[in-house]
Amino acid sequence: MQLRVGFGYDMHRFKAGRDLIIGGVRVDYPLGLEGHSDADVLVHAICDALLGAANLRDIGYNFPDTSADYKNIDSTLLLRKTVELLKEKGYYIGNIDSTVCAEKPKLNPHIDAMRLRLSEVMGIDSDDISIKATTSEKMGFVGREEGITAYAVVLIQKE
Ligand SMILES: [Zn+2]
Repeated sequence: MQLRVGFGYDMHRFKAGRDLIIGGVRVDYPLGLEGHSDADVLVHAICDALLGAANLRDIGYNFPDTSADYKNIDSTLLLRKTVELLKEKGYYIGNIDSTVCAEKPKLNPHIDAMRLRLSEVMGIDSDDISIKATTSEKMGFVGREEGITAYAVVLIQKE
């Protein structure tokens, strides 16, 4: 069996007048995140980790933000396509561990819904998806509530 790891990182700044979508789940909050797509920072980090593990470049390369196709797109569709790209190379997902870093809002109440949603999108067990939420202890741009960052590591395997 061939095992590979991948790492992904993403960040988006807050913007008024947009829904806040994290991990495929709408979180009730007065601000959303700015981006060409729905700016789902966690899903983007997971996509990048998966693509990196399979050496398939990154999310911007595969789904360019210059393309009208991806304007305001539901990022879980990009995640679905990413899993397809991996399958074409013979890889399936072992497990995912991720951290979302946000000063506000509190994300812990939404984590189980995110894990469930992402398990449906990727067709894997929700037990293979870990999502952790932390703050930046009021330091830096996350601490100043300017935006949200997300980090993900994945393990993928091929027989
Ligand atoms: Zn992004």
